[in-house]
Amino acid sequence: MARYDYDLITIGAGSGGVRASRLAGRFGARVAVVEELRVGGTCVLRGCVPKKLLVYGSHFREEVADMAGYGWSVEGVSHDWGAMIAAKDKELDRLHGIYMNLLNGAGNTVLDGRGVVVDPHTVEVEGKRYTSERILIATGGWPSLPDVPGIEHAITSNEALDLPQRPERVAIVGSGFIAVEFAGIFNSFGSETHLIYRADKVLRGFDEDMRIALTGELKKKGLHQHPETLPTRIEKGADCYLVHLSDGEVLEVDAVMYATGRSPNTKGIGLESVGVELADNGAVKVDEWSRSSVLSIWAIGDVTDRIQLTPVALAEGQAFAETEFNNNPIRPDHDDVPSAVFSQPPIGTVGLSEAAAAKKYGALDIYVSGFRPMKYTMTENSERGLMKLVVDRASQRVVGAHMLGVDAPEIIQGVAIAVRMGATKRDFDRTIGIHPTAAEEFVTMREKRPDPENVAAAE
Ligand SMILES: Cc1cc2nc3c(=O)[nH]c(=O)nc-3n(C[C@H](O)[C@H](O)[C@H](O)COP(=O)(O)OP(=O)(O)OC[C@H]3O[C@@H](n4cnc5c(N)ncnc54)[C@H](O)[C@@H]3O)c2cc1C
Repeated sequence: MARYDYDLITIGAGSGGVRASRLAGRFGARVAVVEELRVGGTCVLRGCVPKKLLVYGSHFREEVADMAGYGWSVEGVSHDWGAMIAAKDKELDRLHGIYMNLLNGAGNTVLDGRGVVVDPHTVEVEGKRYTSERILIATGGWPSLPDVPGIEHAITSNEALDLPQRPERVAIVGSGFIAVEFAGIFNSFGSETHLIYRADKVLRGFDEDMRIALTGELKKKGLHQHPETLPTRIEKGADCYLVHLSDGEVLEVDAVMYATGRSPNTKGIGLESVGVELADNGAVKVDEWSRSSVLSIWAIGDVTDRIQLTPVALAEGQAFAETEFNNNPIRPDHDDVPSAVFSQPPIGTVGLSEAAAAKKYGALDIYVSGFRPMKYTMTENSERGLMKLVVDRASQRVVGAHMLGVDAPEIIQGVAIAVRMGATKRDFDRTIGIHPTAAEEFVTMREKRPDPENVAAAE
């Protein structure tokens, strides 16, 4: 008889948990997956997917305006928010079904409820105990709210995706990718949108030129930005919320959304009591194989706070399953992970920012090109884009590629392959462009940006 009920119990059926569990199942393991909400997790149900659907939905408004430049006359255009939310929910139900089928197809057992680890080989779900040789923590993260008076009136990205009505006026607090994306959604739908943040520009940690350019583009699109400002109090008015800002201004809005951070889901699930070490922010500490400080317990995805992106959670889940159940040891690779911000216009990026590359490599060659998308040349749309290559001067390797502008995430996905392969600037230069595209700029940039020291010396 088997020593344990299962070979693997996974807690959390999000991106990472589902990938690991279904692969383990395919490799012949007896797997149970515990989920307390709905199979699919953050990305599918409360993150990437619904967010991007709303980005698409909101952007049509601008496209309708752009059509006039091409001779179209469009009258009587209106938007039904409720219809869009219902269509979005239908799509999420479809995806949830696909995820359920994936788990069932791999022979996994789905246990509904909250999983709590009671010893290194036992998980309790709804009062029943199940034993397993290995336990995988894939519980993801949850929005965290700061301690501001009146914070109970604020919503997070979870609720913002399900609002029964579009707020006419909305305040969004934060300047990370989630804040910027939701600000773009509401602003593009026509809501008076305020973005309130502590830094001087949006998207801390991204390349400085991209931050400057996006901050400027958002301004052009009518987004009200409140940099170097924080809410000090949120008050409920008769039919609105009053957001008191640190600079004394008071904003009257219909919804206040916070996107100031997410915390790993490790509270109250028994990890500390069985000896799993957690970081100060609650993330599970893991080694390069995603193993925790307890030999039979692993953790992947957002709960480990390595890189909080779905494809990273998938890669970590895959590496775990291959290593533990397919005799094929793989360490997840966290280098040169490309990513996107679905702001309007969007950003795509891979490799290092100029500042990070300067720290790592010293002297750099920088190529920057600003452009007006061809599609907009016959319209009133004044949106501009920016492309940038960061090149290590000594080796001539392209160590960072960044783009702000239409289709940037789609374009950077391809560029990321070259960057990961160690392509040099010469490799880029000898690649023929596809004309007429914006992407061809990446292989035609020839003028180095003058070194800041030389510019200063010349002045
Ligand atoms: C608004 C938003 C937009 C995003 N956009 C993008 C994007 O565009 N691209 C991108 O790559 N990433 C994006 N992300 C990040 C992405 O969603 C996460 O990186 C990804 O979902 C992490 O997967 P995971 O498996 O670690 O956790 P999750 O997908 O969060 O899954 C964790 C699961 O565990 C369950 N759970 C938690 N605790 C327990 C318990 N004790 N018992 C049982 N079940 C439990 C939860 O209910 C959840 O279903 C976005 C995130 C947000 C919030």
